[in-house]
Amino acid sequence: MTTGPNLGTIFVVDDDQYLRRILTMVLEREGYRIHAAASAVEALPLIGREAPNLIISDVEMPEMDGFELRRRLSEDPETKNIPFIFLTGRSESDDQVHGLDLGAQDYITKPFEPPVLIARVRAVLRRVKAAALQARADSLTGLLNRQTLEEAVASELKRESRGNHSAALVFLDIDDFKKINDTHGHAVGDRVLKTLAGVLSAGTRESDIAGRYGGEEFVVLFADSDARAALGRMNDLMRLFGEACGEAAGFSASFSAGIAEAPRHGKDFATLSQNADMAMYQAKRAGKARVTIWGEKE
Ligand code: GH3
Ligand code: MG
Ligand code: MG
Ligand code: MG
Repeated sequence: MTTGPNLGTIFVVDDDQYLRRILTMVLEREGYRIHAAASAVEALPLIGREAPNLIISDVEMPEMDGFELRRRLSEDPETKNIPFIFLTGRSESDDQVHGLDLGAQDYITKPFEPPVLIARVRAVLRRVKAAALQARADSLTGLLNRQTLEEAVASELKRESRGNHSAALVFLDIDDFKKINDTHGHAVGDRVLKTLAGVLSAGTRESDIAGRYGGEEFVVLFADSDARAALGRMNDLMRLFGEACGEAAGFSASFSAGIAEAPRHGKDFATLSQNADMAMYQAKRAGKARVTIWGEKE
């Protein structure tokens, strides 16, 4: 049994019992949890069930070799993205090329130096984590992208409803953004978007969620908050955005925003965002640069 930090689960596949034992010992000491199998045939169904963070596999094994294991795993959407390292006595460059072409993140030849193996495991896991974070983010602003935003809001709404808490969803759209682009150029427009993203990140708490819904539209979810409190915070953010734009771009900018409160104005993302969007349009019609709560007169 291992105690201490769990850096992730690694699935080791090798027909050499001695090597399985060494790998288990070396990696467990680093803080990884290890599952091991003596053949690819044995490993295949187990990997699907255990969903490890990384697989380290031998190539030459009876019945099914490591290349075939990697190929089979890549056919299953559940397992195809699990990071994979070959650890093998096959050191021919053709084999290395084949292994990497099959989608392995690394190819290490035996005999191996434990510290080097550990460093390469760490490097693979670091790269995979960075890529996963990047896939969740909007590339211009670094905020959550639309899909991740919707998922994050949905799961936070579930959490809030379990705890009988309210939450406030804000739909926000920059005012006259087309004019900003037309007058100052697209690059300045981009800078305004980044400035707003910075203001939203800095002005929200750890438990809140901020994302870019598309174009110049953003969504914020204030966790454990009612519409009234969210209104106050959005008015503060409006002022900060105007000031930050002045510094970053040399002119002030504003947004219009609408707020819908869960569960009072809706329980799921679709209903809340639709209502918050309607409230936002009400703010536009009333003259922009303001925040409106759904169902309330401006
Ligand atoms: P309103 O006050 O009614 O919201 O008017 P608006 O001009 O802000 O709204 P409209 O929807 O007409 O224009 C949005 C503009 O945002 C149009 C589009 O070219 C621009 N835009 C969308 N994405 C980006 C982006 O990533 N960078 C820049 N610079 N502009 C963008
Ligand atoms: Mg072998
Ligand atoms: Mg818009
Ligand atoms: Mg706009």
